Amino acid sequence: MTLRWRRLGLTLLSLFLISLTIVTQAAGAIGWADLLLRGLQIYQIANISTRDEIALGQQIDREIRAQVQISRNAAAINLVQTIGKELVPVSDRPDLPYTFQVVEDKAINAFATMGGFVYINTGTIAAADNRAQLASVIAHEMGHISGRHSLEQMRQAAIAQGIASLVGADRDRLVQIGTNIALTLPNSREAEFDADRRGLFNLVRAGYAPQAMPQFMQKLASTSGEVPTFLSTHPNVTDRINYLNNLIQENNLQGSKGLDDSTYQQTWQNSQPRERQRGSTLRRMQN
Ligand SMILES: [Zn+2]
Repeated sequence: MTLRWRRLGLTLLSLFLISLTIVTQAAGAIGWADLLLRGLQIYQIANISTRDEIALGQQIDREIRAQVQISRNAAAINLVQTIGKELVPVSDRPDLPYTFQVVEDKAINAFATMGGFVYINTGTIAAADNRAQLASVIAHEMGHISGRHSLEQMRQAAIAQGIASLVGADRDRLVQIGTNIALTLPNSREAEFDADRRGLFNLVRAGYAPQAMPQFMQKLASTSGEVPTFLSTHPNVTDRINYLNNLIQENNLQGSKGLDDSTYQQTWQNSQPRERQRGSTLRRMQN
């Protein structure tokens, strides 16, 4: 009898605590998906649900956008988003709500974070010879997302920093770690090869010429004075190019879309010099 009352007391107490938590969370305007993360141990983070992955990605995206300059160049945004829309339905995770953003930065770089956020620097758009080469970079970044690489990186970083769970203050630190991973930390050798492979197959399924991927890497490695950030991570460029060429040959991958250099460069360059020539007037109009 006593035991039963004690049990009832405990049940009521936990119900009270749960509702208190929900009220507190609602007051802090945190999405309900966050509730699902509560109590989850950090070693489980690589296995979180897609919904939670997106919720975490949205917070990291907010932080990234505060740290980089998101471009207002309509032609660049349109180009990247149009290619993104072609790739998503034939990607490994077409269910994700992808967001494609352009970063105003001359450095040749691109990055991504969990839940479908892809960022392409204007420097990368300018460096590509054609649409297929740019698509190969976007597809590669989508490959990091479908491989859930940043979640695995986050798991390792969090464990190294002694973060125990996804609750409260730890969550803010996780968002910082996620931002850091996207902006500065290189991917592992395995993750790069995995993103190359996923990206290559995605590219071909969208009809693009697969050779554009190794060709763009080759171009960047040989023309720029120093190896761009995008390629400076672990696997060396020659290994990646060989890996891609082997995949293309072994799987007899074919596609012809996106190799028209002049159309691409016209689209891109038309959007650039005009803005620079007319300077502040045009910029003011666009803002
Ligand atoms: Zn990569």
